[in-house]
Amino acid sequence: MPIIELRGITKTYHQGELEVEVLKGVDLQVEAGDFLAIMGASGSGKSTLLYIIGCLERFTQGTYLLAGQEISHLDDEELSLIRNERLGFIFQSFYLIPYLSVFENVLVPTIYSKKRLNFRKRAEQLLSQVGLRDRISFLPSELSGGQKQRTAIVRSLINDPDIILADEPTGQLDSKSSSQVMEILAGLNRQGKTIILVTHDEATASYASKRVIMKDGLVYPA
Ligand code: ADP
Ligand code: MG
Repeated sequence: MPIIELRGITKTYHQGELEVEVLKGVDLQVEAGDFLAIMGASGSGKSTLLYIIGCLERFTQGTYLLAGQEISHLDDEELSLIRNERLGFIFQSFYLIPYLSVFENVLVPTIYSKKRLNFRKRAEQLLSQVGLRDRISFLPSELSGGQKQRTAIVRSLINDPDIILADEPTGQLDSKSSSQVMEILAGLNRQGKTIILVTHDEATASYASKRVIMKDGLVYPA
């Protein structure tokens, strides 16, 4: 059974009078342990698709099975529970909270967690693993782009999700920081995490083991 299965997913946005169909019937299967890159031009619907996969955005029509469970019937509370327990998110612009330290930022998702983990210990260990041990009490403004993204990776891992979704995670990074970030994601994939990466950058996509291309709201094999 695929961990993620989309069948005929559509998404229509209303822009004033205008209806724009951004996804036109996407079919996609992701197996547990996959490292998938979703590529495609700007505006092709990559982020929309990733946000739907991440249960951050509702779809208009179609079927979405997450670990075999149909999620379109779930209410917002049930969806946030799934998001919190199963999914980790990494974004191009990091979305760190500016007035919280690195340590406090990575602990934010644990506020809503029902999992019983030693989160503070876990935060320390994960931050050390990504080379941020000596940055634990820094504010985001005191970090480089690469350090910010590594902080965001730890935040995405803190609740021990099985799926990590990354939307252009290297989009604001130089090539050295980009490869550091991608090496970390590749390592997580080797440990068994399912990773779905959106990128239009060839070097970034090369870390993935499978890829698809989005074009005009549909997904094609690459
Ligand atoms: P990509 O990530 O591939 O650049 P997006 O998924 O961000 O593409 O956007 C695809 C299309 O959907 C674009 O034309 C964009 O303008 C439109 N779109 C995205 N989000 C919204 C929204 N919240 N409301 C209206 N239109 C949107
Ligand atoms: Mg995008």
